[in-house]
Parts: sequence; C-alpha cells; structure tokens
Amino acid sequence: FRWWDHVRVAQKDPIVGVTEAFLSDPFPHKINLGVGTYRDDEGKPFVPQCVRDAEAKIGGCKFEELNSSAVNSKFVLESVKLAYGNDSHVVREGLFAGVPTLSGTGACRLFAEFQRNFYPNSQIYLPNPTWSNHRNIWRQAEIPVKMFHYYQPDTKGLDFAALMKDVKNAPDGSFFLLHPCAHNPTGVDPTEEQWKELSYELKVKNHFPFFDMAYQGFASGDLDKDAQALRIFFEDGHLIGCAQSFAKNMGLYGHKVGCLSVLCNDKEQAAAMKSQLQNISLAMYSSLPIHGTLLVSMILSDPDMEALWRKELKAMAKRIQTMRASFRQNLENLDSTLNWEHITTQVGMFCFSGLSPDQVKHLEKDFHIYMTPDGRISMAGVTRSNVNYLANAIDEVTK
Ligand code: PLP
Repeated sequence: FRWWDHVRVAQKDPIVGVTEAFLSDPFPHKINLGVGTYRDDEGKPFVPQCVRDAEAKIGGCKFEELNSSAVNSKFVLESVKLAYGNDSHVVREGLFAGVPTLSGTGACRLFAEFQRNFYPNSQIYLPNPTWSNHRNIWRQAEIPVKMFHYYQPDTKGLDFAALMKDVKNAPDGSFFLLHPCAHNPTGVDPTEEQWKELSYELKVKNHFPFFDMAYQGFASGDLDKDAQALRIFFEDGHLIGCAQSFAKNMGLYGHKVGCLSVLCNDKEQAAAMKSQLQNISLAMYSSLPIHGTLLVSMILSDPDMEALWRKELKAMAKRIQTMRASFRQNLENLDSTLNWEHITTQVGMFCFSGLSPDQVKHLEKDFHIYMTPDGRISMAGVTRSNVNYLANAIDEVTK
C-alpha cells in the first residue's frame, strides 16, 4: 500500500529559500541580507562574552543531577523581570504564570495551543505584515488568523489611523498579537503616545494583548526602553501574554531559549494557568533541554554578568544603528533621487527597503545580494566593508 502518495512537497519558507540560493552562489563577495541573525562587522556570528563566561562556569556541571524545576523557576522569574522591571509588583506578588519555551517560536506555539484549548472559538489578529511564521503557528493550532493594518507603503511608516480602526472594529474580546519593539519585517514601531492610545483602545474593547518580544534591546540598545510598550499596557491594567526569545539579544540562536508568561488576577489563577501551560508542553515535548535555560538564568542572576550583557547588547544595537546611517549616507552620496530617510527612522534588525520583487531579483542576479522578495534587508548583514557595494547596487537597480 502506498501510504504517502497524497503528501506533496510543502511550500518553501521564504527565508529558507533565500539562504539556499545564497549558499549555492560561488561569488566571493556575495551578501546575505535574508536571515535575521546578528553578525559582527566581519559578517561573522557573534557569541557575547557574557555567554562564554557562563559557559565556562557551568562547564563542569552534571546536568543529570540538576534540579531542573529550580533552574526553570529562576529562569522564568528573571525573564519576567526583564519584561516588567525588577521592582514591578507582578514580580513581587507573583501575579504571573510562566514557563520556559523552545525560544520565541515555542512560546508563540504554546500560547496558540493554550488558546485552542481555552478559547476554541477565538481568532488571532496579526499585524500586516508580520513575521511569516506567525501565520503557520496559529494555523497549526487551528486558530483562524485575521490581519490588522500596520504598515503604510507610501510613508514607509505606521498606518496608525487604519490600525486603530481595525482595533475598534474587531469583535470585543479579540486576541491581538503585537511586536513591542523592532517590528519584523518593517522596523516600524508605534511611538510612546501611539502605544498609549492603542493600550486604551484595547482596554475599551476588552481585547487581549499578546506581545511577541523577539528583539528586546535591539531597537534602542536598552532593555528597559524596548519594554516600554509592555509596561504601558501593564500600567493600564491589561493582563498580558508575552513571548520572549533570547536568540537574538543573547546570541543563543541554536540553544532555543525562550519564555512564555501570562499575567493573572491573583495567585490562585496564576497557579492554575501555569499548570495548564505545563500540561500542554508536557504533551508536546515533555520537558526542554536545560543547558540554555541555565546559561540565561546564570547571566541574569549575577549582577556583573548581567551588566556585561547589557553593555554587549548595546554595542550590537549600536553597530546596526551605525550601519543604517552609513547605508543611507552612501545612497545619498550617489545622488539617488529616491528618499532613503526610512533607513534610519526604522529600528531594530530590519529595514523594509521598499524594493520591489523585481528589483530584489535584479540584485540577486547581477550583484549577488540576497534578501526576501518583500525587500526586507537584515541590517545585521551590512558591514563597513560591504555597505558601499550594497548602496551602489541598490542605486543601480532603482535608477
Ligand atoms: N517572533 C519574531 C517576531 C521573530 O522575528 C522571530 C525570529 O525571527 C521569532 C519570534 C522566533 O524567534 P526564535 O528564534 O526565538 O524562535
């Protein structure tokens, strides 16, 4: 019997496609601007010193004998502190339920699964556009996906009026996914004032805010500033869901370390919520590897290590900001007739360049520069030695 004849090749993820094309190109000066992983100024992956120090400290650790539940609780507590601040009463009074997750993706997936279990008739509203995997994640959990207005191609900024209209028109009590900082793929974040208005309107409509925080620290270089949106919503009394990832800001990509936390009204509710999240993850993968969780909790509970991390994170964000300025300057020096202001007004890992799919193809074919067809440039792939070549190529294809 032919069991698998109905199984067809799945559609390729756009980012996987870009990486494959890049890897098979023999040109020595090719540039990969597809994948959103941080690179140093030589284009190399970067392992922060604080992570190396923590690795050295746990080198002799016997993982088999670790009390993983104690490590997990410590890790969750430190993660929630990063989100809401050290002295937040959520932390002091334990008004949250949190579990370690398989990085940011796993946190979103676990929440989607929770939604399926406890709000089976709900939907999720995602910004348009958003990280391509958000759709897959909620689709796999059989939660219908709706989009709300976010990006305005003409201004290459936020379409705040349309966004607010969608929030008002969504059925009361809807789930809204928000990127608290360094929006992927656009690099466009609401202002503080806009976050306040948004928080107010979500409250009026009893919508639930789910924050996917994959880039805390990458927008401004400051962890607390980048958590501003979350804290505004918190001050307004929202119960918040939050997915955190340590992939980018601690360079722990392969370790897949993340946290899902949900704020609760009281301690009893928090205990119930935690037990349900644990039950769902138990059925999916029992428990997680402990190594990455241990690294993060070690860094976050040692003031010196944490201070070093904050410094290194600031330097990563700074490098990207410097590259944005240089990229824009290079284009302007070439007398490009287009407006490139958005390169420096957008923030975080990505620049939503406004290049068309044809221009992206042209860059790939004639200049060996690779990015997703939507024109998203991972600024982490831009370095002092390739920025000039990149600007020249973009000037050529946009003439
Ligand atoms: N959420 C957003 C918005 C992302 O951009 C990403 C990664 O690109 C993730 C979540 C997933 O991150 P992780 O690698 O931690 O699973």
